[in-house]
Amino acid sequence: MPADFALALHGGAGTILESALTPAKEAEYHASLARPLRAGHRVLADGGSALDAVTAAVCALEDEPLFNAGRGSVFTSTGKQEMDASIMDGSDRRVGAVAGIFGPRNPILVARAVMERTPYVTMIGTGAEALARSAGLPFEGPEYFFTEQRWKAMQETLAQQARGAEDRDEQRRHGTVGAVARDRRGNLAAATSTGGMSAKLSGRVGDSPVIGAGTFAENGSCAISCTGHGEVFIRWVAAHEISARMRHLGECLVDACEHVVMKDLKPNDGSGGLVAVDADGTIAMPFNSAGMYRGRIGPDGVALTAIHRETLRAS
Ligand code: ASP
Repeated sequence: MPADFALALHGGAGTILESALTPAKEAEYHASLARPLRAGHRVLADGGSALDAVTAAVCALEDEPLFNAGRGSVFTSTGKQEMDASIMDGSDRRVGAVAGIFGPRNPILVARAVMERTPYVTMIGTGAEALARSAGLPFEGPEYFFTEQRWKAMQETLAQQARGAEDRDEQRRHGTVGAVARDRRGNLAAATSTGGMSAKLSGRVGDSPVIGAGTFAENGSCAISCTGHGEVFIRWVAAHEISARMRHLGECLVDACEHVVMKDLKPNDGSGGLVAVDADGTIAMPFNSAGMYRGRIGPDGVALTAIHRETLRAS
């Protein structure tokens, strides 16, 4: 019996070390996941579309300063912020993506504007920002997007690079937000948004705005939003590979996700994870990193969230 509706989201695979997690910090992270879950739930409970639900959830995640997207985006090696996002409607494979933008408060709305207001799939930089302006989307200045935590992380990564050391700290390296949903009509959608990798070179684009790599949705199989080492997710075409395994091998969502995360990505330096939903509303949230900020919500409206390997808790 298919689920009525279902939504899952992530706040990135770059989780805080368990040892550094104070009860107050832990509560903050759970609350920062629960608010976007409720934003998506409101849309679905009112009979709204999966597309509108993932848009609402990702906007709310972008507004949370703790996550690396929108407001809490990481800094490039030259102290700038360049954001990427994409969205896909599983009912008709319409997509929109943006890369390397700064200014729009919610990059996911710019990706959606590309999908709905242009004949294109992807727009970058100043052209995408101009589209956002003409669509009347809200903009913010540098002070809105500045967080002390991300500024320090960028400086620490650069200091490590100067010493010739590789930065293996997942919290510093990673972060992205994303959501997937199935609505009451059985339509699927996925959305992903990120500041990218801390201390990245200006112009670097990861998997989040690449359809099939960081984001994919197709009604007959699944909707996927990824987080992790973007270059590897692109090379393994992670999100589409899950859909392809379901369609061509007849694998269930959980097995297809497990294969891609543990057998394709993990052995190839592809640390990270993803959230996924299938046509029946089954949800999977696998990761091969120490943790992944994640959560799910269904018709009962109970927001279930987790950070590391612990089981989901009501938030
Ligand atoms: N996948 C993102 C990127 O490569 C970063 C992350 O999710 O950690 O830009």
